[in-house]
Amino acid sequence: WAKGAGRGGYVVFNPQMRSAAAERRQLEEDLWAALPGGQFRLVYQPVVDLGSERVMGFEALLRWDHPTLGVVLPERFLPVAEDIGLIPEIGRWVLAEACAAAAGWRRSHPGAGALSMAVNVSPSQLGSPGLIDDVRSALESSGLPAAALVLELTESVLVRDPLLAAERLHELRGLGVRVALDDFGTGYSSLSHLRQFAVDILKIDRSFVSTIDDAEAMPAILRGLINLGRTLDLEIVAEGIEQERQRSHLREGQVGLAQGYLFAAPLEHTDAELLLLGQAEAPAESP
Ligand code: C2E
Ligand code: MG
Ligand code: MG
Ligand code: MG
Repeated sequence: WAKGAGRGGYVVFNPQMRSAAAERRQLEEDLWAALPGGQFRLVYQPVVDLGSERVMGFEALLRWDHPTLGVVLPERFLPVAEDIGLIPEIGRWVLAEACAAAAGWRRSHPGAGALSMAVNVSPSQLGSPGLIDDVRSALESSGLPAAALVLELTESVLVRDPLLAAERLHELRGLGVRVALDDFGTGYSSLSHLRQFAVDILKIDRSFVSTIDDAEAMPAILRGLINLGRTLDLEIVAEGIEQERQRSHLREGQVGLAQGYLFAAPLEHTDAELLLLGQAEAPAESP
C-alpha cells in the first residue's frame, strides 16, 4: 500500500492508519481505567556514584500494565494521557508512590539514609497550579525530606513559557526539593537559560554518552556539556551508560553520577530493595 499512499496529492486511508487510530482510541479509553484499576506501577533505576559504584538514589519510571496489551511504556501512553487531561492525576500518583518508596527504603535500610528519589515532571504538570500542593503533600504523607526529592524537567518547558517556569522553579526550590534538567543537550536551552533558571543537576542525555567510542578520549561536545555543568557548579548525571569504556571515560572526566544498563536497568520495587540490602552488607568503600 505504501507505494500508493500520497500519489496524486492525497493520502489513502489505509488499514494500517485505521489500526493506528483504533489503537489510539483504545489507549484513550483504557487510560481512564488505569489509575482506579491499579494498572500503573513504578520501576526504579539506580543512580550510582561513578567512583564507588554505590547506589545514591533512584529514578522512578512509570509502567502501565495494560489488561490485554501487556506492559505499555511511558513514551507510548503519556502523550495520550496528556491529550485527554490525565497528566495531573497520574503525576500526583507518581509523586506519592515514589516518595513513599524512598521514605520506606531510607527508614528500613541503614545504608540508605541519604538515598534520593528522582521523579519526572511533564511540561503540562509544571504548568498546572496543583503541582506545588501535590509535591508538598507527597512529602508530608511519606515523611521524605524535601532535599531527597529531585524533580526532573526537560529543557522544552523552560523555553515554552519561561516566566511560568521560573516562577514554578522558584516555588519548588522554596519547598527544598532539587531540580534536574533531563535529557540535557537535546533541547533548545542554552547558557542563558541555565543562568536564568536555578537548577541543581544536569542529566546529560544518552545520545551524548553513546558518542564515546574507542578511538577518542572524550568527544568534544560531551566534554563541553560536562565543563558547562562544572562551571555552573551543578551536579552532573550521565544517562544511559551501557558500555565499560563509557564508564571509564566519564569517570576520568570527573562525572559524579550515572545511570544505565551497565549498572542496572529499572528495577521492580522488591528488586530495588534487594539491591539496597546487598549494599548495606558490603563494605562502605570498595577497594
Ligand atoms: P527519561 O526520564 O530520560 O528516562 C530514561 C529512559 O532511558 C527510561 O526509559 C529508561 O528505562 C531508559 N534507560 C535507562 N538506562 C538506559 C540505557 O542504558 N540504555 C537505554 N537504551 N535506555 C536506558 P522509559 O522508562 O521508557 O522512560 C522514557 C521517558 O518517559 C523518560 O525519559 C521520561 O521522560 C518519561 N517518563 C517515564 N516515567 C515518567 C513519569 O512518571 N512521569 C513523566 N511525566 N514522564 C515519565
Ligand atoms: Mg528522567
Ligand atoms: Mg533523560
Ligand atoms: Mg528521555
